[in-house]
Amino acid sequence: MRRWTIVLAGAVALALVADAAHSLGAADRGVPVGSLADLSTFSLHPVKAITTGEGGVVTTDDTRLAQRIRRFRNHGFTRDHHQRTEAGSWFYEMTELGCNYRISDIQCALGLSQLQKLDVFIARRQEIAERYDRAFARMQGVEPLGVRRGLSHGRHLYVVRIKPGWLGLDRRQAFDRLRAAGIGVNVHYIPVHLHPFYRERFGTGEGDCPVAEAAYEQILSLPIFPAMSDADVDEVVAAIEGL
Ligand SMILES: *Cc1c(COP(=O)(O)O)cnc(C)c1O
Repeated sequence: MRRWTIVLAGAVALALVADAAHSLGAADRGVPVGSLADLSTFSLHPVKAITTGEGGVVTTDDTRLAQRIRRFRNHGFTRDHHQRTEAGSWFYEMTELGCNYRISDIQCALGLSQLQKLDVFIARRQEIAERYDRAFARMQGVEPLGVRRGLSHGRHLYVVRIKPGWLGLDRRQAFDRLRAAGIGVNVHYIPVHLHPFYRERFGTGEGDCPVAEAAYEQILSLPIFPAMSDADVDEVVAAIEGL
């Protein structure tokens, strides 16, 4: 399925590369993330849906690109040592400049075990999100992120918007009070164009993306992880109700 590629990039033959680190386990009308773009990248950092400690995954259904990625992670060599052993040959060539981005076997063992739990992890994340959704449907000032029809969400984060003026609190105060109450809230993220790197390199700054900047002032990420119990979720909701 190449819907986005065709709409956005097809006319000029660009490849669509999706940073799918947050959306592992999600799907668009039944088509899983990882097969929606030409290349999709996933992070296996410990905070992500599944982990190998560090590392990541690239998915593609383009054999040529897959071979190129395999070469790139192995110094640009034409064959890795497994292939050389199979072929009984010492011969390999460096055909382009690559890096050492190889993952270790030990990390892969962890990753394979984690992968088996992915469905259970995502299902639990979705249950927690639904429990939050139900609770916030009754509350005026807290608005969960919407999910478009037909999409299934990986629920890496559970983000709410604290409506301005709610209880006379702004997001900063809500954040501080919830942290003081022992609730691990967070803010994801500082808008990209406000990071010093982009400001300095591209001259971006306040006012360039007013919608993102306004959202940034209001968003709050609530705790969500598969081991979280319903009672934990209720505790977070109660803390918000008690603000
Ligand atoms: C975690 C994350 C990354 C970085 O992943 P690394 O494994 O640290 O390279 C990039 N993009 C998004 C959206 C992420 O969540």
